[in-house]
Amino acid sequence: MHPYQEDQEHRRSVLQAMLLVTIASALVFAALNFPDGMMLVGGIQVALATLAAGLLVVVRRTRRVQTWCLLFLLILLSVTILLLSRPEISPFAFIWLLVIPLVTHLLLGSRLGLLLSVGSMGAGAALFLYRFGGNPELVRVEVMSNAIIAALTTLGMSHFYERTRERSELRLTRLATIDPLTGLANRARLIDVFHWEQAQARRNGTPLSLLMLDLDRFKRINDEHGHEAGDAVLVAFARMLQQRLREIDLISRFGGEEFLVLLNNTDSKRAVDVAEELRQSLEQLDIEYQGKRLKLTVSIGVAEYGPDGLDLDTLSRVADKRLYQAKASGRNCVRGPIAESGVEQEAALSK
Ligand code: GH3
Ligand code: MG
Ligand code: MG
Repeated sequence: MHPYQEDQEHRRSVLQAMLLVTIASALVFAALNFPDGMMLVGGIQVALATLAAGLLVVVRRTRRVQTWCLLFLLILLSVTILLLSRPEISPFAFIWLLVIPLVTHLLLGSRLGLLLSVGSMGAGAALFLYRFGGNPELVRVEVMSNAIIAALTTLGMSHFYERTRERSELRLTRLATIDPLTGLANRARLIDVFHWEQAQARRNGTPLSLLMLDLDRFKRINDEHGHEAGDAVLVAFARMLQQRLREIDLISRFGGEEFLVLLNNTDSKRAVDVAEELRQSLEQLDIEYQGKRLKLTVSIGVAEYGPDGLDLDTLSRVADKRLYQAKASGRNCVRGPIAESGVEQEAALSK
C-alpha cells in the first residue's frame, strides 16, 4: 500500500547512470562505424543514443521508475540482439553479452534481472552459434569454455550481489521504520505514511482520521510488576490493535506508551466508533504475565484531516488535546469532535 521510496530512488540513479553510458558508447560506436561505411549500424546507434537522451529527461521526474527500467532494457537488449545479427558485426562484439547480467540486475532486481539475463544471454548464444557455428576457429573448446565460464561468473556474481543488497536494504529499512519492542511502525514511518495518505486524501477527497492512544496509569504496571511486565503489556496492547484494526490502517508507537493510528477513508464520526471499540476491547482484555492477570485501560483522542488540520503536527496536537481532556475526565474514554450548529464541542463518549 505504501510504496517505499528508497528502492525507487536507488534504481532511478542507476538508470540515469546507465542512460549516460548508453548515450556515450552508442555515439562512440556510431562515430567509428560511419567512416567505415556501416551506415545502417551507425544509424541504429545514433537512434539508440537519441532515445536514451529522451529517456534521461523522462526518468528524472517519473514515479514509475520500474516500468521505465524495464522498457529501457527491452529496447537496449532488442537493439543489441539486432546489431549482433548483422553480418557486418564481428564475433568480438558478442563480448557485450557478458555485461547483460550486471545491467539487468542493477536495474530490475534479483528476480526479474535473472529472468531477463538468462533469456537474452541464451538468445545471444543461439545467435552466435547460428552465425559462427561452422567456424572451427571460433567454435573451439578453449573459446567456448572461456565464454561459458565468464558468462556464468558475471551472471552468478551479479545475482548474488543484488540479492545481498536487497536483503540488507530490507533489514535497514526495518531497523529504521519499525519499533523493535512491539513490531509496530515507529514515528519516522508514521510521518512517511502520513504524507502518502495526505496526498491520497487530497486527491480523492476521502476522509482520513488520526487516533492518539495513551495507556492509563501505565506507570503503576511498571512500579508494581516491574519494567518487563510493562513491556509485555505494551506488546499485548500492540497485538490487540493489530487484530482489531484493518490491515490498511497504520498503527505506530509514537512514544513510551503512546500510540498513533491513521485510519484512511474514515471520517471522525466513524473513527470515534473505532476508538470506542478499541477502548472496550482493552477493558475486557486480561493480559497474562508470569501467571498474573494484568488489567489496563486506555484513553483516546480523535482528530480528522481537514476540519482539525492539514498537517501531522497540527492533527496530532488536536488529538493530543482531546486525549488530555479524556484523561482529565477520569480516563478510559474517547474524545472526538462533534459539530453542532457550527460550534465544535468535545464529547465524552464513554466512561
Ligand atoms: P496517565 O494515565 O496519565 O497516562 O498515566 P501514566 O502512568 O500512563 O503516564 P506517564 O506518562 O506518567 O507514565 C508513562 C510511563 O511509561 C513512564 C515510563 O516509565 C513508562 N514507559 C515508557 N516507555 C516504556 C517502555 O518501553 N517500557 C516500559 N515498561 N515502560 C515504559
Ligand atoms: Mg499513560
Ligand atoms: Mg504517556
